[in-house]
Amino acid sequence: MTRVVLVGPPGAGKGTQATALSQRLNIPHISTGDLFRTHVGEETPLGREAKRYLDSGELVPDAVTNEMVRERLSEPDAKSGFLLDGFPRNTKQAEVLGDILSENEEALDAVIELKVPEDMLVERLLGRGRDDDTEEVIRRRQQVYRSETAPLLEYYSNVLVTVDGVGDVDEVSSRVLDALGKR
Ligand code: AMP
Repeated sequence: MTRVVLVGPPGAGKGTQATALSQRLNIPHISTGDLFRTHVGEETPLGREAKRYLDSGELVPDAVTNEMVRERLSEPDAKSGFLLDGFPRNTKQAEVLGDILSENEEALDAVIELKVPEDMLVERLLGRGRDDDTEEVIRRRQQVYRSETAPLLEYYSNVLVTVDGVGDVDEVSSRVLDALGKR
């Protein structure tokens, strides 16, 4: 059973690592950004509400986000563990995640921080070419990370493991697996 949260600034490689580790550990990769993008693409009511936040790099309001995550975590595949990528993004969301897990008598096994130097982040994002990867929105997402999300490192200090996120995908995956004691 592996319940893991990946944290790190936009461009740290959370999505890439979560995809690789999800296959390796056979647990679902749950990305709130991907869930939002699917809703936006399908023009669901949730997607119509979320779009302007994604477009500007702001956080989608907690009520919307938390409800979406609660539903996703209630699906059967998440019972065997999960890799959360992009959630929680502030301490309120972390509290809600804690509530959801303790309602099921579950807990996180680890919070992995992927650490990458700042100048590499923007470079990686500009190379990725997603709709919200314009320079202005990237800058805003980094600011939001520093003010809203970075406090989670303190919040989770007792389960936090910091992993060097510089290197090729397999190298970084190996470090994460080591950190999880899975290698
Ligand atoms: P990501 O794919 O993780 O970079 O997320 C892309 C965008 O989705 C973010 O810039 C936010 O607008 C939104 N988003 C993703 N996860 C969250 C979250 N946990 N809380 C609020 N907004 C989120």
